[in-house]
Amino acid sequence: MSFMQRIKQSLARFMMGRHGADNLGIFTLITGLVMSILGSFTGIGLFSLLGFALYIWTLFRMFSRNNEKRAAENRKYIELTSGWKTKIRQFFRRMKNRRDYKYFKCPNCKVLLRLKRGSGEKEITCVRCGFQFKQKS
Ligand SMILES: [Zn+2]
Repeated sequence: MSFMQRIKQSLARFMMGRHGADNLGIFTLITGLVMSILGSFTGIGLFSLLGFALYIWTLFRMFSRNNEKRAAENRKYIELTSGWKTKIRQFFRRMKNRRDYKYFKCPNCKVLLRLKRGSGEKEITCVRCGFQFKQKS
């Protein structure tokens, strides 16, 4: 067995039963990296310190054997960020389609609606709450 294979195998054995990388781990790692870069560019020690703390937390979670707790943290993270991810996705879709569709919010429940451009003023019925209003396209 080569040296590299042996390292790979012992690493795999070491990681057995440990939590490993997950969505939250990747997020904390990237944020940690950004903080360290910011720290070295700006010379503000707080960024470097935060970056270091995030690395430590990432490593702690990766090597943790308390899978249940780590999975719960990851679920919480996904729950907290999914709203933002939807908003960001919606924003890019809007940018892409803004020539063909007019986007607007329902005045009653604030849900985002769209109307094909050039179809004049229309009577809109909100898909979520059923509120009716007039909207120019
Ligand atoms: Zn509505």
